[in-house]
Amino acid sequence: MHAPLTFHPFRPVDVAGSENLSPIVGNRVELQLITTLRCNLKCTYCSASVGDVLGSQGNVSYSLDHLDAFIARHLSGYEVYVTFYGGEPTLNRPFMQAVMDRYPSFRFQLQTNGTLLDDLPDSVLARLSNVLVSIDGGEAVTDGYRGRGIYRQVVKNVAKIRDRLGGTLTARVTWSSAETTFEELDELAQSFDYVYFQFVAMEGAYAPEMVEKRKAVLSRLVEKFFASGERVYPIIPVMGVVRNQVLPSRATELYAGLTQCRVSSHILNIMPDGKIFPCPDMMYMPDMQQGDIVANWLRKSPLQPHPNMPCQNCEAFSWCRGNCMKNLHLAYVKGQNDYRREVVEPICDLVRFLGREVERRDPHAWYARATLAARKVLADNEVYEYVEIMP
Ligand code: SF4
Ligand code: SF4
Repeated sequence: MHAPLTFHPFRPVDVAGSENLSPIVGNRVELQLITTLRCNLKCTYCSASVGDVLGSQGNVSYSLDHLDAFIARHLSGYEVYVTFYGGEPTLNRPFMQAVMDRYPSFRFQLQTNGTLLDDLPDSVLARLSNVLVSIDGGEAVTDGYRGRGIYRQVVKNVAKIRDRLGGTLTARVTWSSAETTFEELDELAQSFDYVYFQFVAMEGAYAPEMVEKRKAVLSRLVEKFFASGERVYPIIPVMGVVRNQVLPSRATELYAGLTQCRVSSHILNIMPDGKIFPCPDMMYMPDMQQGDIVANWLRKSPLQPHPNMPCQNCEAFSWCRGNCMKNLHLAYVKGQNDYRREVVEPICDLVRFLGREVERRDPHAWYARATLAARKVLADNEVYEYVEIMP
């Protein structure tokens, strides 16, 4: 049994300065609105298919009046930003448009498989601060998981909407295959503004030789990052580790020291029927329900650090902050030992490796030499608010 995790003390205050007992930590909240649980693709590793969540509900069934009442009761005074999520969110464009019209001062992000991006009207594209486009690396790997021709279709659609998009374009790579190469990720870094990757949570993906192949790619990504002090190489997990090692308070400030994927602090995943869960991969677990839009209730996220989790004694903790709480919860609270051995431990090994690769190249010296513009991109990047940062 490990010692309990300890985090920076943090007592949020409301806008009037008095103590706020809200379940939301901090001053911002992300509403991840699942516009539909339908999808037009059948990706082999889809996490929403676990527990038969995918396809279990169609379009949103609560009304915007319900959402208004919920926001008024629980989120007054917070800076709100919305991520449209799914299934494939663009299958329910009228809902996206209606939310944007109802809450014009919110920030908006879209997470999409990219296949219908070119159908979005200019009025929607112009108001999106960031679009996360799911892609798996190169053409062969992406088409292998998503279906023939999908990679080219997505790249074509991205090029079509680029000039009409108000914000940034981020490739969201689920690093599923050990065959994904440095060149493939580097190519995405040229055609998108940013690349975010996350190691797939799939048993069978981390045999020792597969871990070694991923490490070789990580080394080259880190090497390329440190090759320039003028332009920041836009690979979010590498940027995030560098930022957190150079400016450790940034790793904790928006999350009260909890995980940077926001599930323990300030993200609400709202299912089409209005049920609220912290993590989109755990919507099949009733004990993870955190609230309900229609019944208008909200409690603190139940997905929190637990004394059984090994983070407290981990060399990466100060900058990793617990990476994926779902993985840690399944492995160390639910005691899924096969999942721990086959998924969670190898991913933690890769995260620690990434941190060591950054550390040995002296990120403080890089930051000291970097231009002011590069420092700003590294330190204050808005995209960190839209992704998990750690892989
Ligand atoms: S690498 Fe793993 S054990 Fe270490 S802090 Fe991150 S999630 Fe926790
Ligand atoms: S990183 Fe966070 S949001 Fe993503 S699966 Fe893990 S716990 Fe859920």
